[in-house]
Amino acid sequence: MDILRLPALDDNYIFLLFDPESRTAAVVDPAVPEPVLDALAERNATLVTIFNTHHHGDHVGANLKLREKYPGLEIYASDVDRDRIPGQTVQLQEGDRVTFAGNEAQVFFVPGHTRGHIAYYFPPYGDRATGDLFCGDTLFAGGCGRLFEGTPAQMLDSLSKLRSLPNETRVWCAHEYTESNLRFALTVDGKNRDLGDRMVTVRGMRSRGEATIPSTIGLEKRTNPFMRWDDPAIQAVLETSDPVRTFTKLRGRKDLF
Ligand code: ZN
Ligand code: FE
Repeated sequence: MDILRLPALDDNYIFLLFDPESRTAAVVDPAVPEPVLDALAERNATLVTIFNTHHHGDHVGANLKLREKYPGLEIYASDVDRDRIPGQTVQLQEGDRVTFAGNEAQVFFVPGHTRGHIAYYFPPYGDRATGDLFCGDTLFAGGCGRLFEGTPAQMLDSLSKLRSLPNETRVWCAHEYTESNLRFALTVDGKNRDLGDRMVTVRGMRSRGEATIPSTIGLEKRTNPFMRWDDPAIQAVLETSDPVRTFTKLRGRKDLF
């Protein structure tokens, strides 16, 4: 299974999963149809599945257009979102398994950004040496999604699930927010050498117009303050030793940054 990253709108990424053998494809969070249709045409591929992480327009915007073109399409999303995902055909819950072209993914229920948000995790399999996590707007490279419909405690719990995945797991998040996220991260974790190094790398990549996605779970654990609620240095800056308080203060500061 190949994974293609298709830029869309201002800073969204749509991910196309392509199986060269069967020439079938799945797409994660299609914001708009054009880049998906172009990538499919280039590969002479048929779209069989949409994996949605949550109901926001920049993640489901192309659902109906794509289903018009591919009427047999399955559209997967959370059962919590059953009334707000256009064209949804399958309702998912924590622990469910979904497959694309013989690759099985586990579903994680990760509320916080929205109350129905889910993530898809493909463990290492066959010729894939690392797992692949599609986490929408829950975990970002260097940050996390805003809490539109959830509490800090819920989001911390959701991120805990993702934090327990193997370090090599590739993190395919839905937005290119990394550089500004790291600018914030440095305000609360300025002595973190890994974070400083990452900022240098990311600035270089962005100045060359390169994408910073995918990240990895290991890199996020070392440099993303929203994965480091139990880090003593960050807790000292935020003047609390309670994980939920730490996370709440982090999110509050980021909202104002
Ligand atoms: Zn969103
Ligand atoms: Fe989004």
